[in-house]
Amino acid sequence: MQEMLINLAYIVASILFIFGIKMLGSADTARKGNLVSAIGMLIAVVVTLFEKGLSYEWIVAGLIVGTAIGAIAAKRVQMTGMPELVALFNGFGGLASLLVGWAEYTKDEGHLTPFTATVVVLAILIGGITFTGSMIAYLKLSGKMGGTPTLFPGQKVFNALVVLAMLGLGGYFIATGTEWALYAVIGLSLALGILGVIPIGGGDMPVVISLLNSFSGLAASAAGFVIFNTVLVVAGCLVGASGLILTVIMCKAMNRTLANVLFGGFGAASGKGGAEVEGEMKAMSVTDAYYVLEAANRVIFVPGYGMAVAQAQHAVKELGEVLEKNGAEVSYAIHPVAGRMPGHMNVLLAEADVPYEQLTEMDDANAIMPAVDVAIVIGANDVVNPAAAEDPSSPIYGMPIINVHEARTVFALKRGQGAGFSGLVNTLFFRENTRMIYGDAKATVNALVGQFKD
Ligand code: NDP
Repeated sequence: MQEMLINLAYIVASILFIFGIKMLGSADTARKGNLVSAIGMLIAVVVTLFEKGLSYEWIVAGLIVGTAIGAIAAKRVQMTGMPELVALFNGFGGLASLLVGWAEYTKDEGHLTPFTATVVVLAILIGGITFTGSMIAYLKLSGKMGGTPTLFPGQKVFNALVVLAMLGLGGYFIATGTEWALYAVIGLSLALGILGVIPIGGGDMPVVISLLNSFSGLAASAAGFVIFNTVLVVAGCLVGASGLILTVIMCKAMNRTLANVLFGGFGAASGKGGAEVEGEMKAMSVTDAYYVLEAANRVIFVPGYGMAVAQAQHAVKELGEVLEKNGAEVSYAIHPVAGRMPGHMNVLLAEADVPYEQLTEMDDANAIMPAVDVAIVIGANDVVNPAAAEDPSSPIYGMPIINVHEARTVFALKRGQGAGFSGLVNTLFFRENTRMIYGDAKATVNALVGQFKD
C-alpha cells in the first residue's frame, strides 16, 4: 500500500515537471512554470524520505552542508557568473550519480545482477565524464584556465582509445563483476571528461554546457535505475532530452554540427584568422548621438555580454521608452548565443520589464534591418561581427549573426577596443556607418536618456 502511494506521488511529481517545463516556453507563464516544477520536486523529495531503510542522520547532515554551500554560492554569484555556476551544478549532478553507482556496488558487495551492473556502469561512466568535463568548462568560463583549445598530436586517436578502453572495461565488469575493472572505468571516465573538453574553446562553451547539462540528466536517469527510483528516472530523462534539444538549437544558431563543435578544435587560433581590416573606428559623442536618435523613426537595440557586465538593462529600457515617446518604433533583437548562457539577454530584459512583444528573434530582426534608422549595439561583439557572413577565412565564418551593419547607422557601445569572447577583431566597428560610443554601457545609456530629458 505504502509503495503504491509513493509511486502515485511520483507520477504526480512527474506530471508537474512536464507541465512546469511546458510553461517555461513563454515569458508570461515562466514564473508559474518554475513554481509548478518546484512543487513537483518538493513532492518527490518528501515522498522519497518515506522509503524504507533510510539513514536520516546522513540525509540531514547532507542537507545542511548542501543548503549552506548552495545558498552562499547563489547569493554571491553575479549575473555574469551564472554560466560558471550552472557548469558547477551540472558537474556535481554528475558526481552524485557516479557516487550512487559506486555506493550500490559496495553495498551489494559486488553481487550485482547483470541489469544493475549495467546501470551502475552507465551512472559511473556518464557521471564521471560530466563531473570533470563540467569542472574544465567552469575553469574556462571563469577565466581561471585559458579559453583557447588545448590540442596535441594524435589527440582524436588517443581519445578514441580511451573511449574504447572505458567501454571494454565496463563490459568486462558487467560480465564478471571484477572490482578493479569498475575502478578503471571510474578513472577513465574522469580522464575522458577532461580530455573531451580541453580541445573545445572559444565561442563553443555554450554548446558544451548544454551538452553537459544533458549528460547530467542521463547520469541521473541511470542512477534512478540503480536505486529503482521512478521519479529520478523521469526527471533525469527530462533534463537529458531538454539539454539535447537546447544543444541542437545552439549548434544551429552557430551554423555548426555537434561533431564539429566537439572535435573541430574551433578557436585554436582565436584572435588570429580572418582578412586584414581596412578603415578606422570613428568615435561619436553622446550629444551627437542624441541628435541622430532624436530624428530616428525606427531603432533596434542589440544587447550582448557587455550589457550584462554593465547591468545596463534598466537604463536601456528607459531609453527605449524615451525613444518611443519621441515617436520612434523600438525593438530588441536577441541572438541565441548573446551573453554567456542560453537565454541570458531574455532574462536581463525580462528583469527590466521590457515588453515581450518588443523582443525580436534574429531572423525577424534581420528581415527589417535595412529599414532600421539606428541599431544600438549594447556591449555585443561576436554576435554582430559581419566577418561571420562575409569573410570565408574568419574562424567564425558561417555563424549566423544579427546584421546590424545593414542598418542605416550603427551605434556600438563598449568601453574600449576589447575583443569579444572569440577574441576576434570585429569588422563592424570599422564600417562607414558605424560610430563607436565609448564608455560603460550603463553610463552611456543613462547619459543619452539625460539628453532627451534636458
Ligand atoms: P562578446 O563576448 O562577443 O562581447 C562583449 C563585449 O562587451 C566586449 O567586446 C566588451 O568590449 C564589451 N563590454 C564588456 N563590458 C562592458 C561594459 N561594462 N560596458 C560596455 N561594453 C562592455 O559578447 P556577445 O554577447 O556579442 O557574444 C557572446 C559570445 O560569448 C559569443 O562568442 C558566444 O559564442 C559566447 N558564449 C555564449 C554563451 C551563451 O550561452 N550565450 C556561453 C559562453 C560563451 P570592451 O571590453 O571594449 O568594453
